[in-house]
Amino acid sequence: MAKRDYYEVLGVSRTATQEEIKKAYRKLAIKYHPDKNPNDPEAEEKFKEAAEAYEVLGNPEKRRRYDQFGHAGVNGGASSFSSMEDIFERFSSIFNEGGSPFETFFGGGSGRSHHRKGSNLRVRLKLNLQEIAKGVEKKIKIKREVSCDACHGTGAKGGTALRTCSTCGGTGQVQRITNTILGQMITTSTCPTCQGAGKIIEERCEVCYGQGVTQKEETISVRIPAGAVGGMQLSMRGKGNYPPGGGTPGDLIIVIDEVEDEQLKRDGNNIVYDLYISFIDAALGTTVEVPTIDGAVKIKIEPGTQSGKILRLRGKGIRDIDGYQGDQLIHVNVWVPKQLSSEEQKLLEKLRHSPNFQPNPDKREKGFFEKIREFFK
Ligand SMILES: [Zn+2]
Ligand SMILES: [Zn+2]
Repeated sequence: MAKRDYYEVLGVSRTATQEEIKKAYRKLAIKYHPDKNPNDPEAEEKFKEAAEAYEVLGNPEKRRRYDQFGHAGVNGGASSFSSMEDIFERFSSIFNEGGSPFETFFGGGSGRSHHRKGSNLRVRLKLNLQEIAKGVEKKIKIKREVSCDACHGTGAKGGTALRTCSTCGGTGQVQRITNTILGQMITTSTCPTCQGAGKIIEERCEVCYGQGVTQKEETISVRIPAGAVGGMQLSMRGKGNYPPGGGTPGDLIIVIDEVEDEQLKRDGNNIVYDLYISFIDAALGTTVEVPTIDGAVKIKIEPGTQSGKILRLRGKGIRDIDGYQGDQLIHVNVWVPKQLSSEEQKLLEKLRHSPNFQPNPDKREKGFFEKIREFFK
């Protein structure tokens, strides 16, 4: 009997997705299952034929070879199954369970392993004040473990040098029944023989040494929203490590590190800037330039400005992730010269006893701490 085309066997088009192929096989496997068709050689033949087609088309690598070379490209056209037992063994997760066996196998993509999750990857990302204030798109280089191409993540040579674990029958879990004073208790734990993989590697993949994963360097683009705070964690789903043996990759956790600005100090959503002016500028008034997160701005210093005065630049702080907008607070420090020439000394001596130079603080003027408190109300 001439071999039928595998696509024809499963009744799918040549462009069918892996999901469609699985579905088609599932339908046929149920239809021709020996339990449903006892002593029916024709059904058995169809059952075998479907398994053989699925064995090839359900594996992207084998499917590619089949597409290119036909039956000759896979197993030289011979069935890879030696017996019915072999089929049950190979797709053990389908046949081992009672109830609705097909749900577990076909429900989640890669069989049992689909609920195995890889580890998370953590990276620290340094951001300067500008980047925090405006938000930024960053490219970060990560090294993560990805599924090994050579063995399709199985860790077994060619992806096929595997057998079903006999301890757990391929489920990856073992159940133990213990008698307690409350009655029988069933505990489920990871199979100690296969560590939950459900399969035993007979020959290791030479590329990943049986790990099923290889290290890969990737550059990942991350959009950091404006208003991030040091210690904040952003997580990117599925950008972490793949688990050995297949499953869902973990997440990439990005931990924000704030690089302190030399001039502009962050205090929550506010930016605090220490401004130093000469006592002459404080007395006569002037215009000075101060840095802000939006660039330098000019501000007016009123004549008679006291040291410790706080000026506020509204809206020049940080808008946090919740949308609260901070301000920039300018803390005015009046600079007293530390050394004077003899000429300068003489000039100042003339002013020493002038009444205007005698301290006369306004009692109604609030102190520094009160002022600070007022700003944060
Ligand atoms: Zn096992
Ligand atoms: Zn490998």
